[in-house]
Amino acid sequence: MKSISSLIAAFFIFFQSFAQSTPANYCGTMSLGEERTALLKEFQRSLGTRALAEPQITYYLPLVFHIVGTNEGNGYADLSMVLESVCALNEQYGGSGIQFYLERPPLYIDNSSYYVHNYKDGTRMMRQYKVANRINVFFVQNAADNCGYFNPSADAVAIAKSCMLQGSTTLAHELGHYLGVPHTFNGWEHGTPPEYEQERADGSNCKTAGDGFCDTPADYLADRWDCPYSGSVLLDPVGDTVVPDETLIMSYSADECQTRFSTQQKAAMRNYINRSKQGMVASEVPYYGALMPPQQLSPDASNPYVNGTLSVFQWSPVSRAMGYQVQVSRFFSMAQNVIDIMVEDTLFATSELIPGVRYYWRVRPVAAGNTCGPFSTTNEFTVSLPTGLDQNPTIMVSVFPNPVRQGAVLQVLFSDPVASEVQIELLDLSGKQIKHLSGSSPQLQIPLDGVAAGVYLLKIENERGRLIRRVLVQ
Ligand SMILES: [Zn+2]
Repeated sequence: MKSISSLIAAFFIFFQSFAQSTPANYCGTMSLGEERTALLKEFQRSLGTRALAEPQITYYLPLVFHIVGTNEGNGYADLSMVLESVCALNEQYGGSGIQFYLERPPLYIDNSSYYVHNYKDGTRMMRQYKVANRINVFFVQNAADNCGYFNPSADAVAIAKSCMLQGSTTLAHELGHYLGVPHTFNGWEHGTPPEYEQERADGSNCKTAGDGFCDTPADYLADRWDCPYSGSVLLDPVGDTVVPDETLIMSYSADECQTRFSTQQKAAMRNYINRSKQGMVASEVPYYGALMPPQQLSPDASNPYVNGTLSVFQWSPVSRAMGYQVQVSRFFSMAQNVIDIMVEDTLFATSELIPGVRYYWRVRPVAAGNTCGPFSTTNEFTVSLPTGLDQNPTIMVSVFPNPVRQGAVLQVLFSDPVASEVQIELLDLSGKQIKHLSGSSPQLQIPLDGVAAGVYLLKIENERGRLIRRVLVQ
């Protein structure tokens, strides 16, 4: 007979296999790299004893998010969580003179060896997919066993999706490294540093030891800790007690303890942007204001059906929105979405829905600076017929001119090398094929002879995925 303790042990093993796994380490950033380290040292040498002025201008920095799944396209980080992280970041960077914005819908990567990766594969992923002159963040299942890390050689950040729950400071912390700021316990990442590198509790060597900032107290804690600190007493080389500051985002205190960057840390980040990242700073202020919820046009209460050949969702445009998050679920609560995607258009088409089944859908606007806009009401609908289309934003493509004149030639330009033959179909809104062509050239041309004025859908497909663009023929 099994003992109670073995049953309890079996229960815990059972339970843990369902619990969200937490990475072994908080942050895997071991070095800021040569450029950032040199700029930081130069900046810290220039710091006098007078108080730093408040930031006079705000730097607006563009984020590009990459959501990584398995080879089969499973396991993506939750889109709402990814989008809303921009709002959280901007609060965490409040008063720093630095704000972030989303430049485009997230990009998707289906690759199991990037979804769960080591540093080598993570570096390859970043170099392969990062968008130049932007801050690239890769959301994965396993970021080399860390909650996150900044990779100076690839100039990008990876985040484990399990460390992105509400109240998380992981992304703010990793972007702190991206912007050239080290840990408050700098030097302790690999074990106990030599005594001359240990910051004294009285701050007397604050410019040359620890993180080199004099407004962040000595910190020797390179493992996660709960605040207030209650571990064994930390003594500096002269026997004074070290009291680390749990409010600092660049420490390893628990997320709920972390609220801020110090004045010198903020100034160092602005200095880094000014010296190294001027080229990515937005020239116009992105929109951070309120957004209205969109009005659902179809399906809606008056016509609660979608055509199964091509399930098309449409909504009214919202002022200042640069995209929309569309969700479809079997449940009114919008749990377990079968579709959760951000699109730039006010229209979305899919083949993923099952004919005869009742679903619910809702949509919300996303502005560059406000990624937390309100959802529309949740509308019920039923799928009426079999379908045949899908949408996938991993094919980078430009379609122009659009709108296009009747009888003109529509150009389809691929910004990535085209790995395999691409199939292109021009469909009307009922899903009927109007034109079809295929090829592997990076620029394909579709003559629109005989195509009447109206709205069409361009379905573009290769082995990497499928996407649909709306084309207006005038
Ligand atoms: Zn770190």
